[in-house]
Amino acid sequence: MARVAFIGWRGMVGSVLMDRMLAEGDFKGFEPVFFTTSQVGQKGPRVGITIPPLKDAYDVKELRTADIIVTCQGSDHTKEVYPRLRKAGWKGYWIDASSALRMKDDSIIILDPVNRDVIDRGLKTGIRNYIGGNCTVSLMLMAIGGLFRENLVEWVTSMTYQAASGAGANNMRELVEQMAFVGAVSRKLLAKPATAALELDRQVLSSLHDKAFPKKVFGYPLAANLLPWIDSAMENGQSREEWKGIVETNKILGTRRTIPVDGICVRVSSMRCHSQGLTVKLRKDVGLKEITKIIADANDWVKVVPNTKEETLKALTPAAVTGTLTVPVGRIRKMNLGERYLTCFTVGDQLLWGAAEPIRRMLKIALEYIG
Ligand code: NAP
Repeated sequence: MARVAFIGWRGMVGSVLMDRMLAEGDFKGFEPVFFTTSQVGQKGPRVGITIPPLKDAYDVKELRTADIIVTCQGSDHTKEVYPRLRKAGWKGYWIDASSALRMKDDSIIILDPVNRDVIDRGLKTGIRNYIGGNCTVSLMLMAIGGLFRENLVEWVTSMTYQAASGAGANNMRELVEQMAFVGAVSRKLLAKPATAALELDRQVLSSLHDKAFPKKVFGYPLAANLLPWIDSAMENGQSREEWKGIVETNKILGTRRTIPVDGICVRVSSMRCHSQGLTVKLRKDVGLKEITKIIADANDWVKVVPNTKEETLKALTPAAVTGTLTVPVGRIRKMNLGERYLTCFTVGDQLLWGAAEPIRRMLKIALEYIG
């Protein structure tokens, strides 16, 4: 029976992965072993079967006993442990949610509803590293993958609205602390209906600049604010998150000619789900009816939302989408820029299709492959 090591099962991505695997009854047909960087010897998660105490996620000797390693721990851990494992002769499958190995030649970025052919080719040719894509890139491809498949995309810009949980469990906690802080200092003014809106506004603003405002993790207020920079700086003025748009889209699709993808990535104070406003320059003028059909037919999870105010506000928001695998695409229309310019808006749960779900599905594919 294959032995599967899980690292990083306690974080945002890892805990959603555990939930999904439990919901799908995935914990059968293999032997799971759980690792930790901080809780060695403690109890692992409840997965419906008896499991040994947590093992050390830096212990290469222990990790080497696994046929497949699934990690949601993050890039720092991957960079430290992965090379040591391979150097020690480990030949197993490495399935990883972090970006550390994504752009390596011997890695495949996994999003099987979009690139199952690339994954199958990789398995057949002996590729051992299967890496989850950047969450916004994966969600964009789940949303408008049909347009890419039909070779209709000349270029795309993606303006993102990314949730706090995209940065991890501690960031999500801090956003709620920030909201609570703002709520607490405004409570007295809110209790008086006669309070002028500007007075309330001043109070909220001064709370954001208060020394006691909780911002150790983000470094800045996110509640009642937004942060138009995610990840480190690239030399060309992009943030790394923005750079991933072009390189990962093209790697996932296995394009021969690079399709330009660019935009500005913004952290907003939604808890979960990344939203994106897309502009697509079409390679030819195609009618909206056909475009809508191409988008809707691309996979089992994408759903076109009619471009009405009521349907949009009901179905095209993080509050509506969180916790579901549905990837709605709405606000679809041709732009004033010309008939070959299409705009649309999409929302997706970045912890599901943007992270845990491709990993869960890849584990099943790998288990089937090794038999
Ligand atoms: P995370 O929530 O910060 O968890 C990573 C690790 O931090 C956990 O496995 C846990 O390791 C430790 N940890 C420390 N304090 C914790 C706490 N209060 N609650 C839970 N865990 C805590 O990171 P993540 O967001 O899951 O991201 C993991 C990787 O996936 C990263 O490389 C990230 O870039 C990537 N990714 C994230 C998302 C997303 O939406 N968050 C989407 C796509 C890809 P120990 O148990 O060993 O202490």
